[in-house]
Amino acid sequence: MQMLAATPPTPSSSTAALPPLQDRTPEQLRAGMVVTVRGAGSADLAAARLIQDGAQFVARAAGTTLGLKTVEVNYAAADRQGALGLATFQGTEGWFALSQRSTTGILEGIQRLRTTPWAAWSEAERQAFIQGNETILHEAAHVTLDGYSSADVAKWRGANRDFEEGLSEVTTMHHIGAFMRDEFGVDIGDTSNRISQSVSAYTRFTERIERMVAMGTDGSEAAIAAAAARISDRVPADRRLEAIAQGIGDALGGPTAPPELIAEIAKTLPGFVAEKNGTRTHLMELQAALVDHAAGRPIDLAALLADGPEIDATPPRTNGFDPLD
Ligand SMILES: [Zn+2]
Repeated sequence: MQMLAATPPTPSSSTAALPPLQDRTPEQLRAGMVVTVRGAGSADLAAARLIQDGAQFVARAAGTTLGLKTVEVNYAAADRQGALGLATFQGTEGWFALSQRSTTGILEGIQRLRTTPWAAWSEAERQAFIQGNETILHEAAHVTLDGYSSADVAKWRGANRDFEEGLSEVTTMHHIGAFMRDEFGVDIGDTSNRISQSVSAYTRFTERIERMVAMGTDGSEAAIAAAAARISDRVPADRRLEAIAQGIGDALGGPTAPPELIAEIAKTLPGFVAEKNGTRTHLMELQAALVDHAAGRPIDLAALLADGPEIDATPPRTNGFDPLD
């Protein structure tokens, strides 16, 4: 069972039997479409299918269900605010919009795949297509939850927005390579992947959140991808900090890791991601204490808990009612 635990399920199953998107028949593109795609360019069946496939990939990777109901493509309001896409819930139904820039990248890219092998594309053409696909995965991650009741969506609206953005981006970065391979049969390669990740959205949140998610794993790419997908899209939105902290506690402290240490890590995470003074030193002390605990060395729990930085009383920025970018 150890092998199973270390190998997360490959988030491809329904598309595995199909040819790459660019080679599918109109019937194959139409079969099983449940997402409504609107806007200029939505008549392109392949683009609509790609959007649904992307959202299903994200949900499958986390082991949950599709929350997306409606997508607007060529959404100029997103471009006007400098966003590649926007996402929110309308009632309990997921909605996202792709900017004109992202839509163009996708439409041109699908067309080009039918005439020109990926290896013959310029890097500029590759990046425009990868960025369009990353936008789909990122916005889909925003509207993918463990459940879609009014209570689930209310938790999402009240959730810490730094973590919502950071986790959506971490899952996107870790899944884009597998998604492009599954969906189009192309290998985006290390250089292309590094270029897209180097300009990735929300870099500050993303890097710190990714490191904390990785602490709860064996550090392998597959394990980080699985953990990020689970915490972003499967854990209730109001329990994500605890889930990240629990992962660190389990990995470093073992099955008897003191719950007080795990709670203190969860409490410290928002300040750490927001780069508040004292938080990184405190997290280091807490993680070292977990290792000492696992090794049977004594730890001074009371001193550790008293040693934390001042917790900023400012309430966190939440998802609220404006669409997320
Ligand atoms: Zn976002």
